[in-house]
Amino acid sequence: MSQTAQHILQETFGYPHFRGRQAEIVATLLRGDNALVLMPTGGGKSLCYQIPALIRNGVAIVVSPLIALMDDQVANLRAAGVHAAAVHSGTPPETVRQLADDIHSGSLKLLYVAPERLVSERFLKFLDNTQISLFAIDEAHCVSQWGHDFRPEYQQLGILAERYPHIPRIALTATADAETRADMKHYLKLENAPEFVSSFDRPNIYYQVIEKNNGKKQLLDFIKKQMNGQSGIVYCLSRKSVEDVAAFLCEHGLNALPYHAGLPLAIRQENQHRFTHEDNIIVVATVAFGMGIDKPDVRFVAHLDMPQSIEHFYQESGRAGRDGLPAVSWLCYGMNVLVLLKERIMESQASDLQKQIELQKLNAMFDVCETAACRRQLLLRHFGEESAPCGNCDNCLHPPEKFDGTQIVQKLLSCVYRVGQQFAAGYVIDVLRGKSNDWIERMGHHTLSTFGIGANLSDKDWRNVVRQCIGLGLLNNDIHNHQALILTPAAKPILRGEEKVLLRPLKREKAATKVAKTD
Ligand code: ADP
Ligand code: ZN
Repeated sequence: MSQTAQHILQETFGYPHFRGRQAEIVATLLRGDNALVLMPTGGGKSLCYQIPALIRNGVAIVVSPLIALMDDQVANLRAAGVHAAAVHSGTPPETVRQLADDIHSGSLKLLYVAPERLVSERFLKFLDNTQISLFAIDEAHCVSQWGHDFRPEYQQLGILAERYPHIPRIALTATADAETRADMKHYLKLENAPEFVSSFDRPNIYYQVIEKNNGKKQLLDFIKKQMNGQSGIVYCLSRKSVEDVAAFLCEHGLNALPYHAGLPLAIRQENQHRFTHEDNIIVVATVAFGMGIDKPDVRFVAHLDMPQSIEHFYQESGRAGRDGLPAVSWLCYGMNVLVLLKERIMESQASDLQKQIELQKLNAMFDVCETAACRRQLLLRHFGEESAPCGNCDNCLHPPEKFDGTQIVQKLLSCVYRVGQQFAAGYVIDVLRGKSNDWIERMGHHTLSTFGIGANLSDKDWRNVVRQCIGLGLLNNDIHNHQALILTPAAKPILRGEEKVLLRPLKREKAATKVAKTD
């Protein structure tokens, strides 16, 4: 097999070697086994199923959530001389008939479809009489409410396992925390499939986070002092601030171009083209800018506001330094945006569970901003990867000032324990501060030994401590139980007095309070 796969890699795709775990994944599908693939964006997921699709008999059915993504993949395959096609709402009926002919004659090797079409009875009937080489489920995190683009139709894809048990299935995604991963296995019926997890680390990216006071000025300083003459992307939250910031940078002598969905297509294309082909261009953009940008030497990505989740941050900052050379991810965060993002979530039409999940994601992102520990460690932990402090982030290189907060943290952790890990931060803090109310008395918690032991700190200070403990991985919010605080295994040695905890000074309590109010 490997000779054929190697040959196709070189002859059809023009690459001398497989990258990372590609060869193993290809071999797994060629054996007829299933696979779950977690690989960061740009890692080379597509070849993992495209090469087996060319080797195995029949047509490969590829599930993809977006027409733009499908068209992109199909165009690339056709450019490589592979017969591939997509069917979606925009496909004319005569093309659909032609494709059916091509499938039955065996000439079409890959067919891209949207999930809702694939699970329709009509399409499944068609597949029943078709020789299928494999099923590839791209962007598989869409199956999970935890994923950042939940698509309910993905949850029906389990039917493929039942209806076509002998056809290999591969699910692929670039973003998957532990919960998403569990959902993918469950709904896609891949419990027993081997998992191929690549590291999400981007070691050449330096992470730098600062608190906002005058964002535009701070951005200008960063670019002039650290990034002069380099290409970069600046992300803003709104179209208005895109225009505003682009104009501001131009006034100060930089080549900044705006990019957002409200600009005429011709201007967007021109700006994207200049960014890709010229040096020393800065694109100021909303998140609309990025998909399909293939520029390896982006030297910095700046976020003028905090993104709504670590997944978004990782994806956007990951556009820097694709060439492997040093690059910088710079982020400036302030309270206003945090409150704004929180309000957006609360006012959205989403279900309560969905809102809780999104608040939790927002909090996780905020933890990355607030942490005094290694930022990369926190980012990678979010993707299920444990690592040592990186030596290539601001906190590693310039550790923030800290104090021994062991006793304070012990008080908090033991109070969480004594109230049964059933209550959110506000309640726990009231108990700590000895602020009795009806509820606390009804629960009998005014008689606890921890009642009132934290009266020396303000509510704000305690909120800050809670946030820091979450950031340090000592506490978690239980999203299935109204954000109740729960202890993690890392809390044990602290409670037993075996380990110390260093905290950041509590004076920045303003930051902590606002987010903690999500409970
Ligand atoms: P992903 O879907 O994981 O984001 P892609 O499949 O789009 O990644 O691949 C990212 C880029 O890497 C593409 O330009 C692709 O052609 C290239 N690539 C993939 N595999 C290899 C390889 N083995 N050698 C060199 N380049 C590769
Ligand atoms: Zn670090």
